[in-house]
Amino acid sequence: MTRHDDRSRENRFKTLAVGAVENATRHENGRTSDVVPPLHLSTTFEWASGEDGNEHDYSRESNPTRAALEKQLALLEGGEHGLAFASGLAAISTTMLSLVPPGGHLVSSDSIYSGTEKLLTELVAGHFGVDVEFVDARNPENVAAAVDSDTDLIWAESPTNPLMQLCDIRAIADIAQDYDIPFGVDSTFASPYFQAPLELGADIVVHSTTKYLNGHSDSIGGAVITDDDGISEQLAFAQRIGLGNMLSPFDCYLVARGIKTLPARMEHHEENAMAVARLLEGHDRVARVHYPGLESHPQHDLAVEQMSGYSGMLSFEFDGSLTEIEAFVEGLKIFTPGASLGGVESLVEVPSLMIPDEVSHGSTTADIPENLVRLSVGIEDVDDLCGDLRSALP
Ligand code: PLP
Repeated sequence: MTRHDDRSRENRFKTLAVGAVENATRHENGRTSDVVPPLHLSTTFEWASGEDGNEHDYSRESNPTRAALEKQLALLEGGEHGLAFASGLAAISTTMLSLVPPGGHLVSSDSIYSGTEKLLTELVAGHFGVDVEFVDARNPENVAAAVDSDTDLIWAESPTNPLMQLCDIRAIADIAQDYDIPFGVDSTFASPYFQAPLELGADIVVHSTTKYLNGHSDSIGGAVITDDDGISEQLAFAQRIGLGNMLSPFDCYLVARGIKTLPARMEHHEENAMAVARLLEGHDRVARVHYPGLESHPQHDLAVEQMSGYSGMLSFEFDGSLTEIEAFVEGLKIFTPGASLGGVESLVEVPSLMIPDEVSHGSTTADIPENLVRLSVGIEDVDDLCGDLRSALP
């Protein structure tokens, strides 16, 4: 399915996003009169024997509000199992540490969120002695060359933070299948509305729900969705019995609420981001725009093929000094400088100014140029957003 020949997945999704939470709640609780699923804060549930036994006994292991969100997440990604974690990084680290043994082999895209890169280098490799091999995953042949029958996990992000690079999910899934290796995709930037990695053959899809799924910048959380019973059991055991890094009921409630408007928000994010990308592309102080929706993006054809929209994230290379970039950021009135992304409000981040310790420049293709500016384009009025950028650019 491509964006241009079939919008039906998105149409089904719109109805599902609103209704899935009710379906999930009914499934858990039987038919109730709640239109909005109830928030269960109880840490423990009264024990009863036999047929009267309660499905939940202690909220670290299971909780009705979390179970409803997990069902909702699975429905949206078209997967069998959903797990809600305390953060995106909790979802990613639990996946890696559960599926890769100490001393194992993990092949990862070299273009990934800086926190995931730190997790891989410092903890997975540094502490658990895993052989982590980074490759330029834009070319699936690089992945094929790195994996062997002893590889435990293939990891990729698409689109990537902050360079907006893509990987061919179907091609990498085929390689993973040939070797019977699980393949996990961090699909946070696309959201489940614009990309369905499980349909493309991935085994695991991960989201930072902090971003588009919740969408209102008021909850930190993460999700894993998979069709694989064994992977789901391993992760659930690690989460509930081992690490205890599940999402709190209140955060589950917020994410479930956010999901209802995900399709409406994503359409608006994308429309605004496309207008912003075109404006920047035509500006003489912008050297390069990274947005998969632009025909000039080197992987635009792949974006059309595997995504049904391009989301609200983009980055661009400013043709000027860091001092000029700082003045540009200070001149913005609507875009707020700050970390994170995917909320309704527009944000601007300059990695080399704001997170210099997490940025490395110039040694691999995934390194972040010093003049890179990342925008999380919100759902404000598009003319206001473009006007804000126009007046802050020199
Ligand atoms: N994955 C991506 C692509 C991200 O951008 C982020 C955070 O920015 C994460 C994962 C980590 O998510 P969290 O901050 O919820 O732990």
